[in-house]
Amino acid sequence: MKGYSAWSLIREGLRHHLGWGRAWGSPEPRRRYEVVIVGAGGHGLATAYYLARNHGITDIAVLEKGWLGGGNTGRNTTIIRSNYLHDPSAAIYEKARQLYEDLSQELDFNIMFSPRGVMMLAQTEHEKRVWQRVAHANVLQGIDTRFIGPEEVKRRVPIINIDGPRYPVLGALWQPRGGTARHDAVAWGYARALDRMGVHIIENCEVTGIRTEGGKVVGVDTGKGPIDCGKLALVVAGHSSRLAEMAGFRLPMESVTLQAFVSEPVKPMLDVVVMANTVHGYISQSDKGELVIGGGTDGYVNYTQRGAFHHVEETVTALVETFPVIGRMRLMRQWGGIVDVTGDRSPILSKTPVENLYVNCGWGTGGFKAIPGSGWAMAELVATGEPGALAEPFALSRFREGRFIDESVAAGVAH
Ligand SMILES: Cc1cc2nc3c(=O)[nH]c(=O)nc-3n(C[C@H](O)[C@H](O)[C@H](O)COP(=O)(O)OP(=O)(O)OC[C@H]3O[C@@H](n4cnc5c(N)ncnc54)[C@H](O)[C@@H]3O)c2cc1C
Repeated sequence: MKGYSAWSLIREGLRHHLGWGRAWGSPEPRRRYEVVIVGAGGHGLATAYYLARNHGITDIAVLEKGWLGGGNTGRNTTIIRSNYLHDPSAAIYEKARQLYEDLSQELDFNIMFSPRGVMMLAQTEHEKRVWQRVAHANVLQGIDTRFIGPEEVKRRVPIINIDGPRYPVLGALWQPRGGTARHDAVAWGYARALDRMGVHIIENCEVTGIRTEGGKVVGVDTGKGPIDCGKLALVVAGHSSRLAEMAGFRLPMESVTLQAFVSEPVKPMLDVVVMANTVHGYISQSDKGELVIGGGTDGYVNYTQRGAFHHVEETVTALVETFPVIGRMRLMRQWGGIVDVTGDRSPILSKTPVENLYVNCGWGTGGFKAIPGSGWAMAELVATGEPGALAEPFALSRFREGRFIDESVAAGVAH
């Protein structure tokens, strides 16, 4: 497969781009793999990638019921940040953020990482104190964030109204190296790298059953026939409960739809990501010029995976005081994804009651930013059978033992 270099770009440009090969293949599944990963979203692909890169395991199949990246990975609003309160969260999200910095070079695929800065507004006195506390925690964790005043907010985001009658802007938590990346490109980049390493990515291959013998996983049933495996990793976000049920255990999480929408493209007017947790909305501008806007999750458990008008109305109503310009924007499209939300709003990277079966889920409304770090930690868990320092706090046992990692404030609005 050709590398993506300046030279190959010039050569292909001269011959009308007819020589590019497929970025990844479409192999027939083998009868057995050392490791099977269910779910070709960012987390499943990253798990496979770091299994190969860090642990030398390439006898892997990543099974995807639809198309690669077609779940939440291709539906999210791409915010990347690591300004969490608790040490275990800060560690895994910052690991991911750091890996994102060089991921384009590592994968030889432009993932369009844009560390444009993420601002989380304080619009009540309580929220101001919370973000100040997080800023102090981040200093101790070695994460570059600081609390900024309303004047700096206004200077960085001229379109913002800081004097709103209901929710004036009192300051913000500012992470200068937070930002965005192109969501599809993250999935595509990992997929292409995996294909080069000989890992099988099998699309249109739904897992319909999990086979165990003597409490140990031995394989899966799929739309393309049975596949045996030594180890199995379930990385299916909002579908995790359903897969766990196939293996005979339950997960402490709920699946709900999270929606987002974009405006018509307009000239550049917002070059940072702004989140307004009190009113439940956030906004950034894509490279195409669209305003990318999202809000809270649907208020009830569902698997619908689509957008709804009430959500657009509620989110725009919430944001219009702080961003009056959006009152005059035309909206282009809306969509939804099924997110996997745990009680403490933290993920699960864990062994399960079934031997050699591991889960990676519970990233909820904010797992895009975690993809490289999650894959790194999950690969270690699957390869060695034991969690490393990054994954250990996120074990399933924390729900039984009361060791919650409560990030409901940091993850509050989502993302
Ligand atoms: C609207 C929206 C906005 C968001 N915004 C942000 C944001 O700004 N920043 C952020 O960090 N996060 C955000 N998120 C969350 C983020 O998208 C997710 O946490 C992350 O993408 C989860 O990745 P994943 O690989 O775990 O899941 P997915 O990408 O959903 O991948 C799971 C895959 O498993 C497959 N699958 C399911 N069941 C089976 C089966 N039986 N057999 C085979 N395959 C199966 C699915 O088809 C899917 O492709 C947002 C999510 C949504 C919906």
